[in-house]
Amino acid sequence: MDSIPVNLQELKPEDFKAFLDSFDHVFSDCDGVIWTKGPMPGAGKFFSLMKKLGKTVNFVSNNSLRSKENYEAHFRDAEIENGFDYLTIPSIAIAEYLKSVNFDKKVYSISCIETNNVLKSFGIEYKEGPNVGADYYEEYLKYMIDDPEIGAVVMDCDFKVNLPKMNKAITYLGRPEVHFLCGATDRHVYYARGAKTLAPGVFTDLVAEEANRSPVVLGKPGKAFGEFAMKRAGVTDPSRVLFIGDMIEQDVGLGKAVGFKTLLVLTNISKETMLAHKTIRPDFYDASLGSIVPLLEKQFVKSVI
Ligand SMILES: [Mg+2]
Repeated sequence: MDSIPVNLQELKPEDFKAFLDSFDHVFSDCDGVIWTKGPMPGAGKFFSLMKKLGKTVNFVSNNSLRSKENYEAHFRDAEIENGFDYLTIPSIAIAEYLKSVNFDKKVYSISCIETNNVLKSFGIEYKEGPNVGADYYEEYLKYMIDDPEIGAVVMDCDFKVNLPKMNKAITYLGRPEVHFLCGATDRHVYYARGAKTLAPGVFTDLVAEEANRSPVVLGKPGKAFGEFAMKRAGVTDPSRVLFIGDMIEQDVGLGKAVGFKTLLVLTNISKETMLAHKTIRPDFYDASLGSIVPLLEKQFVKSVI
């Protein structure tokens, strides 16, 4: 277990200065940190002050469901300039990974239309479906026929995931040369208080177990995803990165896997929940980005004087 997380509000001025001096780059999650339904108060100001203090700012989200236009609108509403240009999401990581291994076959995609569009925009062909299966097990044989055109199975958020698709994925993964990539590994998504639904991680785990294969995880908290985000940002030393998020498993977990410093904002979970986690603790915490703004402003004024 890591040591007790430090509340930024309780740091003495010189210790807050030492905290700021301990990193050069800020990587931040988006949903629940910068915006929920609308922008979170003070989030845009937080990043502009960080930039004024000489930090580079990048964004890392597990959410491949938003289109580029939707992300751009959210960044704009939060008063963050060109945010999308500095954003890493699983769909882009998956497409760039395939490009990096000179992938020249077709992807079997169990994901959303936005991820498929990103693959297409990188010139990667994909197959998908069927969205409706047969009525009886004996008819499922047709979903267990290999397709030599497929060279990779990609699993991310698919609201129409089903038995035929998982059978197909397992069949293709029977060939060891077929790449197995996944995005978000979340097992549940909470869409209202007390209401949760199964999320992509459940289905990816099932396929992985049945195929006896481990996917390359190109979503938080996969180490490869964090390293990919570093590469895109031109960062070489993970210890000089402060990773900000609102989820312990995904955000703090990613930070721990890669070696980032971690800051948890308690916008979605309580301090008690944070401290109750059995294995993962952030280095720092605060209520929200907005609550850190006055501390940064003070620091900035001081450094000018
Ligand atoms: Mg989040």
